[in-house]
Amino acid sequence: MIGRKYIGRKLTPKRITGRARYRKHIQSRAWFDRRERWFEESQQIGGIVVCAVGGGRWTLKDDLHHVTYDRLGQEDHDDLVALCRFHHEQLHQIWDASRAWRRLPRGTATKGIIALLKQSSSRCPDR
Ligand SMILES: [Zn+2]
Ligand SMILES: [Zn+2]
Repeated sequence: MIGRKYIGRKLTPKRITGRARYRKHIQSRAWFDRRERWFEESQQIGGIVVCAVGGGRWTLKDDLHHVTYDRLGQEDHDDLVALCRFHHEQLHQIWDASRAWRRLPRGTATKGIIALLKQSSSRCPDR
């Protein structure tokens, strides 16, 4: 999730609580540490870390998208996916704009939209 307005979306109590929890986590020291650890793990697994859509080199200045919130605060490695800011925003725009995507489980939608964006072969912008 990224900071942006939710025009026209109903804020159910569950969504508000979930978002407050998410926001608190994302600003926490624990999240900062998890990002660093995730980066180290990724480098150990595959060397250079890249944006899952455009293949541009990913660093800790870039975004990590939550594939699932099931373990918020104690994320498994595969709960997170590396994206540049540009493609992260694109993913959320497509998601927000489509009831069909929103109806799917978060992980399924994430993988589907990433595959869709990859097909359009848009490269990561220079940063
Ligand atoms: Zn996200
Ligand atoms: Zn990218």
